[in-house]
Amino acid sequence: MARTIEPDCRQCRREGRKLFLKGERCTSKKCAMERRPVIPGQHGTSRKRVTEYGTQLREKQKVKRMYGILEKQFRKYYEDAERMKGVTGEVMLSLIERRLDNVVYRMGIGASRAECRQIVNHGHITVNGRRVNIASYRVKVGDVIAIKESKQDLECFKELKGMQIIVPKWLEFDANNLTGKVVALPAREDVDGDIKEQLIIELYSR
Ligand code: SF4
Repeated sequence: MARTIEPDCRQCRREGRKLFLKGERCTSKKCAMERRPVIPGQHGTSRKRVTEYGTQLREKQKVKRMYGILEKQFRKYYEDAERMKGVTGEVMLSLIERRLDNVVYRMGIGASRAECRQIVNHGHITVNGRRVNIASYRVKVGDVIAIKESKQDLECFKELKGMQIIVPKWLEFDANNLTGKVVALPAREDVDGDIKEQLIIELYSR
């Protein structure tokens, strides 16, 4: 599976904000954005005029990196959203949010999206009782997402049992049974409010 090889913390420094790619480390003092919040490289601290294109590009890169999606697949989300009813930017974010690896992350099963992607890829997750190992799988309302029964005794999942996990309102998660449900489609307010999706749409519409 193709993935970006750029180190996680370097990606955050490049985008100038925390992208929360490394789980617990992101909320600790070890976070690179706490220790050295400058653009990486020789010219990181020099001031540059940012063009309109540059602003749009950075916004797109930020979201791609947050969700760990490569360019081709990310553009596909835009193209799909353009064909669907609704505001293209909001539909695009909703489609991205519905990725199975993100849903597993939102349910608190893993500490980062990268970890959740691995959990999915390793076949630990079922959707409606069937094993699904495709991270980009798009969930729909009514889908039941669970940790495979035979894997529930793994140390990393056992510690989730009985935990109080706060999930977004479009999802439910029962930490006793390690099972969750998609109860609605994610709305704009369920996605990171810091994202300016209109900039991404402008970039792709050029
Ligand atoms: Fe980003 Fe997390 Fe690294 Fe901090 S620790 S720079 S939030 S990946």
